[in-house]
Amino acid sequence: MDIVIRNGALITGDGKAFHKRATVYIKDGRIADIHIGSAGTSDEIAARTIIDATGCIVIPGIINAHAHGCICGPSMPSGSPPLSADDIAYFRNRHLLQGTTTLLNVCGLAMADEVYSDGVRHQIDIRVSTAHTLKNIQAALAVDGRGLSVPHLSATIDEMLASGAVALGEVGGGQTLGGGAQDYRFIPEAVLRETGIEATPETARRLKDAVLGRFLDQAGGMSESVLEDELDRAGLSPHVTTERIREIITRSVMPSVALSLDGFDEIAEEAERVGYPAIFHNAAPSAKRLSAVVEKHPNARIVAGHNNHPSFLPDEAVSIALDLRSKGAVIDVSTLDCINTQWRNDAANLDALIDGGCVDTISTDFAGGHWDGLLEAIHRMVRKEQLSAPAAVALATGNVAAVFPQMAGDRGLIEKGKRADLTVVDHVNLSRVRHVVIDGCVAVRNGVPV
Ligand SMILES: [Zn+2]
Repeated sequence: MDIVIRNGALITGDGKAFHKRATVYIKDGRIADIHIGSAGTSDEIAARTIIDATGCIVIPGIINAHAHGCICGPSMPSGSPPLSADDIAYFRNRHLLQGTTTLLNVCGLAMADEVYSDGVRHQIDIRVSTAHTLKNIQAALAVDGRGLSVPHLSATIDEMLASGAVALGEVGGGQTLGGGAQDYRFIPEAVLRETGIEATPETARRLKDAVLGRFLDQAGGMSESVLEDELDRAGLSPHVTTERIREIITRSVMPSVALSLDGFDEIAEEAERVGYPAIFHNAAPSAKRLSAVVEKHPNARIVAGHNNHPSFLPDEAVSIALDLRSKGAVIDVSTLDCINTQWRNDAANLDALIDGGCVDTISTDFAGGHWDGLLEAIHRMVRKEQLSAPAAVALATGNVAAVFPQMAGDRGLIEKGKRADLTVVDHVNLSRVRHVVIDGCVAVRNGVPV
C-alpha cells in the first residue's frame, strides 16, 4: 500500500454512513480498500506512509464547486484582469488548508489552459467553467472586461468543454448583476473618482438600495429624503448631490444587468444541449429570471448558486429555493463570509435554508476574498444540530460529485476504486484540518502543506 489511514472514524460522503473506527488503504491514487474496525498489522507494516487518525474523522476531500480567484486568467464574470500571483497562491492555499481537494473556479471567461499559466501547479485539482456566450461577454465588457483578449472573446462553449472546462457558468455575478462586487469594488471606485472619498461596502450597498431598490427595478428605490439621509450618514453630502449619486450608481450597476439576464437564457439553452451542469447567480435581481429559465429548460442541469444571497430575506430565500427545486434546479448555498468572519454577511439566510431542508450542496463563493471555509459551515451545522455530521459532510462531498459528474464523478465518496482524495479532521471541531490526501499523495500533514 502507498498510504494507510488508521484509527480514525469514517464518514463516507453518502449522507448517512458513519463508522466509529475504520482503516482506509490507498494505492496508485485510488482507494484500494476500506476495513471497518481496527486495522490488521501486516497491512500497516506494508504501507509506505501510515497516518494515525486517532481523535479524527476521515471524510472525502472537500469539493468546492463555486469559487473564484484561484486561476491565472481573467477574473470574475466581469472579465476583470487576473488577480496577482501572490493573491492566487494565497487563495489556493487557504482552500487547501480548509480541506478542499477539488475546486471549480467559476469566473467563467478564462481559458482552460489559464488555470496554471503561472507555471506553478497546485495540489488542489482546480478546474474551470465556461460562460462564453455573446450576452455574457457583452455583460462583462459593459462593467469591465479589461482582462479579456481575443481568445476569450472568440472562444465557444464547445471549444472550452473540449479543452477541459467541466461546467457552464457562473452566469451573472455580483459584478454584472449589481451584487457584492458592486458594493465592495465598483461603486466605491466610482464614488472615489467623483468625490475623493472612500465609501465602505456597507455605504455602497445602502446607497445602491436607496437608488435602485433591492431588485434593481427602481420600484424599491427610496424617496429623495432617504437618499439625503444616506449621503449625510456617509459624510458625502457636501461632495455630491442626490441627483449626481443617482447617476453614478445607476451608471455603475445597470449597463450590464439586462445583458447578464439575457445570458441566463443562452447558458440554459447550451446546458441543455451539451449535458453539462450550469451555475447561475441567484440573487434578488435575478431570481425571477432564473425561475423562468429553469421552467423553460427542464432538461438542463441548473445549479442555483448562493441561494442564501444577502439580497434575499430569509423567508424569501426559502420560498425561492423551494420553487426552483420543485422545477428541478439544484440548490447551492455559499458560506460567503457569513460563518465566522461576518464582515458583510450573516448566517440568517443559510440557517433558514438548512432548517427548511432545501439545500443540496454548499460552496464558498468569493465574498471579496473573505470567504469562510466549507468545514466551518459544516461544523456549525452539526454543532447547532441542524444536520447530522454525515448529512452535513455530504453537502460538500458526495452531493457535489453527483451534480458535477464530469468534474467529480470519480471522487466525493470513500469507496473502493474512487480517487484517493481524503481530508482528516478533528472529531471535536470538524473545521480543524489535520491531514489532506489528494490523488493518493499527502498534501497536508499535521496542518502543514507538503
Ligand atoms: Zn454569484
